[in-house]
Amino acid sequence: MYLGIDIGTSVIKAALLDRDGHQQAEASERMSLLEAPIGWSELDGEATWETATRVIRGLLRQTGFDPAAIRGIGITGVMVGVWALDENDRLLRPPILWNDARAQDLVDRLQAENPDLISAVFAHSGSVMQLGCTLPVMAWLAENEPDVLARARHILTAKDFIRYRLTGAVATDESEAAMAPGSATTRDFHPGQAALLGIEDHVHLLSPVARGETLAGAVTEAAARATGLKAGTPVAIGTGDTSACVLGAGAHEPGQAVTVLGTTCLNGVIFDRAVYEPRDLGLLFIVPGERWMKSMVNVAGTTVLDWALETLCPDLAAGDAPYEALGALAEQSPAGANGVSFVPYLSASGVIAPRIEPKARAGFNGLAPHHRRADMVRAVYEGLAYAIRDCFEAIGGVKSSIRLVGGGARSPFWSQMIADVTGAPVEVPEGTQFGAKGAALCAAVAIGDYASLDEACAATFALKARFEPSAESRKAYEAGFARFKAGSEAALGVLKAVAD
Ligand code: ADP
Repeated sequence: MYLGIDIGTSVIKAALLDRDGHQQAEASERMSLLEAPIGWSELDGEATWETATRVIRGLLRQTGFDPAAIRGIGITGVMVGVWALDENDRLLRPPILWNDARAQDLVDRLQAENPDLISAVFAHSGSVMQLGCTLPVMAWLAENEPDVLARARHILTAKDFIRYRLTGAVATDESEAAMAPGSATTRDFHPGQAALLGIEDHVHLLSPVARGETLAGAVTEAAARATGLKAGTPVAIGTGDTSACVLGAGAHEPGQAVTVLGTTCLNGVIFDRAVYEPRDLGLLFIVPGERWMKSMVNVAGTTVLDWALETLCPDLAAGDAPYEALGALAEQSPAGANGVSFVPYLSASGVIAPRIEPKARAGFNGLAPHHRRADMVRAVYEGLAYAIRDCFEAIGGVKSSIRLVGGGARSPFWSQMIADVTGAPVEVPEGTQFGAKGAALCAAVAIGDYASLDEACAATFALKARFEPSAESRKAYEAGFARFKAGSEAALGVLKAVAD
């Protein structure tokens, strides 16, 4: 048995998997962010550890498994941010998370001084730098809370902190180091990046970097008392949540495409080398076992579907199975939604991969009096599917199947549509906790149960459903995609004209 632990922004999850990777049990508990100024994102660090211990205890209690049956533990979680510990292992301030934007002014100022800043960061990391990344947050602390950095002994991230509490071992993994930002080629921190952000004096606080599929240490006596785990159980380094999810979906072969269709929608392709193109909005995730994933994250994910459900179909939203009812309604309209198209960029955050346009907004196109609600709802599903194709085309196209995970993968109707729209088979893996599974696979390799992550991913992948692209709807979707592209361009063009 392996235990995978996933430290999310608002929920801690854990799953127990058997040797073949089948999920035996899962548990989770929600957490609240601390109240903080707008744009800040902070957690109560000690409460996070306590929540993790309750989730693990609850999982063990619920299953009745002997903790001694757990051969290894892997940890994943939200990446980057700053968890600053002093020499007595106390958190010096509430941890700052990946989605914190307090460094905006500072980064704007650095960029005004050095217009090459963002492209210089990209040149090493292969990712657009996000404000909540470890180094920009450290730069903010250096200016605004220098005492924290002066008293800090370690700067950790969420999963590194939980692993530290379990084992006493200070470490981070390659995915965190590259995203800090660091270097995607060396899969490590990069001194040049710290210099760009003016914090070269503080890099010694960052943790040593290790491969995700190696051992960090073992559960200490104190952690065993807190969690119910057996002292001495091996704990692997693990990896960031995106990479763990990819591993949990069994995706490790170069060329394999992955879509995580959750509140946001991540689309990626696995490579066996660091690829730095395309630049716009690209994120290059380091996947353990010498893999990289070039990705585009689109803010238009299932939140857009939730919007359609609540605003267009409150009657269905109030029912027992709202998503099934929504899918059934959309199916009343044919592929191509009778000519209605929907540009799905509702969010104000400005990220509409594969472009950035802060003022872009969503919209229906082509509405005529004969159109019905079913056409509009279908257009929403299709708009999100076209956005997935748009991202994959920016990455260079899909040459394999797409492994589809996240809440959207629960819809066979939508899964089939994504296959039809992209022209690639869509494979939905068995299981629910893919992040925890990916972390557990790191542990399985670290303790030697599998020779490599290649082997572990292949041996533990189980297919729940596969959707072949159908020739039948291809024509309607090609026309729909062309309308979607025209609609996106028109929206961007109009905005630009208004701005001019
Ligand atoms: P998160 O990104 O927050 O982890 P999930 O991946 O768990 O989210 O996805 C949750 C979302 O999945 C829900 O908000 C909902 O929009 C969507 N969802 C859930 N069930 C279905 C379904 N059957 N069909 C389509 N979408 C669904």
